[in-house]
Amino acid sequence: MEDCLFCKIIRSEVPSAKVYEDDTSFAFLDINPINPGHTLLIPKEHYRDLKDTPDEVLRDLAPKIKMLAQVVREGVKADGINIGMNNGAAAGQEISHAHIHIMPRFKNDGHIHWSKRPYEEGEMEAVAEKLRELAPDA
Ligand code: AMP
Ligand code: ZN
Repeated sequence: MEDCLFCKIIRSEVPSAKVYEDDTSFAFLDINPINPGHTLLIPKEHYRDLKDTPDEVLRDLAPKIKMLAQVVREGVKADGINIGMNNGAAAGQEISHAHIHIMPRFKNDGHIHWSKRPYEEGEMEAVAEKLRELAPDA
């Protein structure tokens, strides 16, 4: 896509610190990392987010997420790896080209987990029932 920053990175119109590339995907260092080694994996085709990304593209990306998680873990001697994908502005998506964050984590690196709360009485079963209605039959 013409104006998309990540499409420009794929076309080398914008510089990036490339980690991996093949016919269908590209991985490069996030310019503003949670920790050094924080890598972004993107499909070369432009899709806005998870919902827009075809299943075959996700199938192609999945083993590369696993491979890059290992590469990053070894490369920066991380203690753990978070995999993330922000979908929609409310979820923190800033770049509208689907991308997977591969984030190295270190013991006591200070990145706290999301705040959580327990369900109210009866709320959990009501939510699960709603989600089961929407989920397709196996
Ligand atoms: P998200 O918030 O999930 O859309 O993530 C977008 C990520 O892209 C952010 O973590 C940014 O730091 C990163 N980013 C933005 N511009 C660049 C760039 N030119 N090169 C590398 N990473 C970038
Ligand atoms: Zn794009």
